[in-house]
Amino acid sequence: MGIILTFLFLILGIGLPIAVQVFMNIDIFHFSVFFIIPIGAIIIGFISAKGYFSGKIKTNTLVTKKHILIGILIAIFCAISSKYIIYTLTCLDETTYEYYYSLDGDHISNYSSDEYESFDFVNFTKYSIENTPISFSRRSRTIGTFTNSTFGWIYEVICFLGIIFGAYWTGSIALEKPYCNNCNLYKKSLKGFEIPFDKGPEFFEAFKSSINTVDLGTTSKSIINQYKSNCKKSKSPHYLGTFIYCESCKFTILKFTLQELNSKGRFEENDDFEFNCNIDYNIINEYTA
Ligand SMILES: [Zn+2]
Repeated sequence: MGIILTFLFLILGIGLPIAVQVFMNIDIFHFSVFFIIPIGAIIIGFISAKGYFSGKIKTNTLVTKKHILIGILIAIFCAISSKYIIYTLTCLDETTYEYYYSLDGDHISNYSSDEYESFDFVNFTKYSIENTPISFSRRSRTIGTFTNSTFGWIYEVICFLGIIFGAYWTGSIALEKPYCNNCNLYKKSLKGFEIPFDKGPEFFEAFKSSINTVDLGTTSKSIINQYKSNCKKSKSPHYLGTFIYCESCKFTILKFTLQELNSKGRFEENDDFEFNCNIDYNIINEYTA
């Protein structure tokens, strides 16, 4: 299962840049926003390593920092592989001096230049990095295009870091996933209910005191029911209660996060707030039925 997922995404990570280059004539690795953020490279790095980490979670193998390093290596392998395959497909049209992609055309390796000698993979990659025009645009209007070898290399390094960051990103999502060390299983999480922000202090006071009661399940349930409200629908800030539980030993945590609206009108978690407590597993049924 893990190996199948790893390979599926690995093939996607290699295939996607090739398809985009061949059919749309766009180098996805160099697709960036604000010039400096290599969004294309980040996405490809993310996809390339995604299957590896999903496989680890599916097979309940605890993801560690060592796995993140492997994920990064997988992403680098994918990027170099796709660049190599694109190179093997790169042909030159002798009349227009434009590239086209074909299996049986006039391959670029048939050409050479004084400075770069014959265009084998290494020389051609060097040539492309140092001679690809970089264009600046402002409000989707191109304001300038220029070629500079130092700049080309800086740009290439940024893209390379983008690939590493993409793989690191998907790995760190897996790294943060709660894990039950007793059962060696990844915990499940279920969104439960919302408590309005302004009712927060009142709710938490009542809820915390219910933790000490004998019949914790029933008491906390009635407190939750008293305060909960559909805040997401009414677009108001709220505390989100999420159940995190182990399917095997039923050990359950109720985790509260503070959800606030950002400037784009979307809910975002406020990292300054955190409240977790152990809770009866059976309460989950009340909020998922
Ligand atoms: Zn467990």
